[in-house]
Amino acid sequence: MPSTQSQEARTRSLIDAALEGRLTDSQAEELSALGPEVAKLALLLAARCIAELRGKLALAGPASPSTPSGQRPVYTKPPAPKRKGKPGAQPGHPGRHRPKPTRIDRREVHRLDRCPDCGGELQRCGQTRRRIIEDLLKDLRAEAVEHTIHRDYCPACKKHVEPVVPDALPHADVGHRVVGLTAWLHYGLGLTISQTQELLRYQLQTGLSPGGLSAAWGRVATILTPWYEQIASEARRSAVLHADETGWRVNGVTHWLWCFANATTCYYLIDRSRGTPALEKFFLDAFDGVLVSDFWAPYDHLLTDDRQCCLAHLLREVEKVDLTNSSAGWKAFAKQLRRLVRDGIRLRKRADFTPEKYTSRITRINLRVYDLAHGRYADADAARLAARLSKHCDQLFTFLDRPEVPYDNNLAERMIRPAVILRKICQGNRSEHGAAVQAVLMSVYRTLKLRRQDPVHTITSALKTYLATGHLPPLPIQSTADG
Ligand SMILES: [Zn+2]
Repeated sequence: MPSTQSQEARTRSLIDAALEGRLTDSQAEELSALGPEVAKLALLLAARCIAELRGKLALAGPASPSTPSGQRPVYTKPPAPKRKGKPGAQPGHPGRHRPKPTRIDRREVHRLDRCPDCGGELQRCGQTRRRIIEDLLKDLRAEAVEHTIHRDYCPACKKHVEPVVPDALPHADVGHRVVGLTAWLHYGLGLTISQTQELLRYQLQTGLSPGGLSAAWGRVATILTPWYEQIASEARRSAVLHADETGWRVNGVTHWLWCFANATTCYYLIDRSRGTPALEKFFLDAFDGVLVSDFWAPYDHLLTDDRQCCLAHLLREVEKVDLTNSSAGWKAFAKQLRRLVRDGIRLRKRADFTPEKYTSRITRINLRVYDLAHGRYADADAARLAARLSKHCDQLFTFLDRPEVPYDNNLAERMIRPAVILRKICQGNRSEHGAAVQAVLMSVYRTLKLRRQDPVHTITSALKTYLATGHLPPLPIQSTADG
């Protein structure tokens, strides 16, 4: 896969190609590799579009109501009503609900046995209300469930009480899987909100509005905040932690999106500061592990056990100077620096060396760093990089003493790339609240993925547990299952 285009940008162009009917052979393969949800939704959407083009909709006629939904071709199902004009109510007008599904697949009755507050007996009132929740099943078929909710009276508490329906957030008319899947498509895979709506257009009887989706994602982020905080504390306790930051906009104001990650945990923080204040907000205190980062100065003020500065970053800097500087002084310096980095990286792979030989080679590498850093250079670029080596001389080859430490910061750069792409499409967030939702959901989804958990299933069942019990289940640890 070409590294010039990020996975997220590719995903969006794949979805566009599928929707516009110009998917190539290799794109079809890539699309199916994105996971069963995306592949299935894209196929169903394509089938629907083909049927519309061929005018089959008119010929097929209404399907028998007794035919199970899953056995009918998608083109015989009623299309979702298309929205006309701008979404949302006019300013000053009362809000309107989405049209209710007309097909009910299942009915459920909810009634409390005892008062949820005091545990006492209830007086049966015969009052009920009806709530229709449309959701996707695990196989992504839609199901509309009509919930009949009894309201009874508790004489001890002197109030009416009713059971919680754990299948959707309060007042929501779509269930957890719709919310969890759409958030994954947007924050996890990098689809735009309109592509997310488009993928689900024919699955649900009623369309999703951008405002409704954002509101639902915001509520999920609030519920998942304890997981977000746990991700931060696990990152702070890690033996090796990667850090990186990139520019971000919140309501037109420059912010920074920070990423702190290891192999199983990824925490994002959106903050005004690109310096020590943001680092203090995250680390709270001294860090006991090895911090892997680039040469950005604020990392120098952090109290860490040890550091590894990114050697790939250093080599990229050398390449950059090469483009504009061809002086003999620079060339000699660059050659020595490249050779030093290459020899260091090669040394780690020498498993055949005895510990004594390995240690003596490390000493030699360190002497070469010292010599290169403290030479006298007439060339300005060589002098600048020599000063950098001098400042970081004991942070360049930490990985030789610590086998668990990599010599580059690729992990953090890979974790921060989706955010860079999202910034290009959505120009950051429109509010501090939007930025907070973004940070929470990106952290949770990315961490679940790193832990080889199914993010959609995990979020769906966590929301259901939360509504049923009032408590979020524990943040899942790394799955040992393959894939
Ligand atoms: Zn009571």
